[in-house]
Amino acid sequence: MSHSATSRIQEHIGDPVSDAPPVGREELEEIFQDIQADMRYDHELNGCLNCGICTATCPAAHYYDFSPREIVQLLWTENLEGIYDAMQEKIWSCAQCYTCAARCPFSNSPGGLIMLMRETAIKHGMESAKNVLRPFSRVMLKLISTGNQLSPDMITPDGFADWGPNVAKVDAPLDILRKAIPMPTLHTTKTAWEVNLKTSVELYTIWEETGVLDSLETIDENLFDVILDIMDEKRDDYEDWLDENDD
Ligand code: SF4
Ligand code: SF4
Repeated sequence: MSHSATSRIQEHIGDPVSDAPPVGREELEEIFQDIQADMRYDHELNGCLNCGICTATCPAAHYYDFSPREIVQLLWTENLEGIYDAMQEKIWSCAQCYTCAARCPFSNSPGGLIMLMRETAIKHGMESAKNVLRPFSRVMLKLISTGNQLSPDMITPDGFADWGPNVAKVDAPLDILRKAIPMPTLHTTKTAWEVNLKTSVELYTIWEETGVLDSLETIDENLFDVILDIMDEKRDDYEDWLDENDD
C-alpha cells in the first residue's frame, strides 16, 4: 500500500495503533458540556448500577452492536473519548421507545440521554448526524412546506425501496380511495392533512426560536436555504391574507 493511500485512510478512521483521540481534548470537553448543560440531563441521569436491565429490555440491543448500559456508563463516568466515539455510530441505533426508562431502578432515561447526545451531534455538525439525517431531507422539506411529513403520494415503490415487496400493498389508486375518506381535508394525496397558513407561520416562529432551523443549517445548508425561501413565501402569503381580510 502506498504511503499516500495509508494517509487517506487514516484521515477517515484515524490511526488504529495510536491512543490519541480523534479530536482535541478541548472539543471533547465542549461536546460533553453541551450534553450536560441541557436541563433534561439531571432528570435523566441519577446514577448507574451498571446492572444492564436497560440493555436486557432494549429492542435495539438485540439487533445492533449497541447497549444503553454502555452509553449511560460513559456519561456517568464522564468518559469523554468514549462519549465521542459512541456519537459516531452507536447513538443512532436507539429506537427511542423508552422501554429502558420504564425499567431502570435508578429512574434514568437512557433513551432520553441518547436524544441529548444526538442533538449535540447535530449541533456540532458531526458526519454521523449528517449521514443519518440525509435520507430524511425529503421528509423535512415536506414537513416545513406543508405542515405534515408523510403524504400518500410519497408512499411509492421508488420512495420506499427499503420496505421491500410490502410497498406494493400501498401502490393502490390512492386518488380514488382518498375520496372515500369522510373529512374533505383528507381528499388530497399531496398532503396528509391541510395545515392552515396561520398555523404554518406560527410553526416557523417556533422552529426559529427553539434553534431547530440553526440545527438544520448545520447539517444541510442547501435544504436550509430552500426552506428559508418557502418560509418567506408563506409569510408573504399570510401578510397578504391579513391585508385582504382587514376590516
Ligand atoms: S441505566 Fe439503569 S438499568 Fe441501565 S445499567 Fe444503569 S442502573 Fe441499570
Ligand atoms: S429508548 Fe433506545 S435505548 Fe431505550 S430501550 Fe428503546 S431503543 Fe433501547
